Amino acid sequence: MLVILMGPPGSGKGRQAPLLATDLGVKQLSTGDVLRVEASRGSALGATVAPLMEAGALVPDDLVVRIITDWLREDDLAPGAVLDGFPRTVGQARALDHVLADQGRGIDVVISLQVPEEALAERILRRAEEQGRADDTPATVRRRMADHRAKTEPVLDHYRAAGVRIADVDGVGAIEVVRQRIRAAAGGDGHTRA
Ligand code: AMP
Repeated sequence: MLVILMGPPGSGKGRQAPLLATDLGVKQLSTGDVLRVEASRGSALGATVAPLMEAGALVPDDLVVRIITDWLREDDLAPGAVLDGFPRTVGQARALDHVLADQGRGIDVVISLQVPEEALAERILRRAEEQGRADDTPATVRRRMADHRAKTEPVLDHYRAAGVRIADVDGVGAIEVVRQRIRAAAGGDGHTRA
């Protein structure tokens, strides 16, 4: 089962992705987590991506695609995976299509977490206090939101056009409540929009 979990910054996808991976018995890959580890290790890749991430800018497609491609070629992903934070652009989605086609696989469902903008701002402020993420400042959050609208929302159109199932899930509520909704949607009995 290959699931893409999508949602704007602050929608809770980073929190829900590991829960869904546990529920489905598959691994989770968060490009944000991988990139944050690289940035903190100060590797060559980290030195390239750290300033972009701090500014709330997207990392270039070729770098993220390379990370994901290496990861998807690993054998232990055969049972499936939850992708969190990828693809974030149509270019990344196309690159992913190629890798999966080579492997004779496809995306089973795209879960799109829905949270109103006012609630997003509030959540990100809270996360900034709790986790101290360098990219959770008002200016960078505005930039990430704008990128989400301009570059990531078209990814949904890409999958819709390809006939991939898209499930809109209400992301407002207690963590466990949202978790159940996502699990139901991944299983095919949630509210779906084809
Ligand atoms: P996230 O934890 O998913 O909010 O990602 C944090 C930051 O990592 C983003 O603001 C980007 O700078 C970078 N990033 C994560 N995933 C991607 C991606 N698929 N494409 C480009 N940049 C990404």
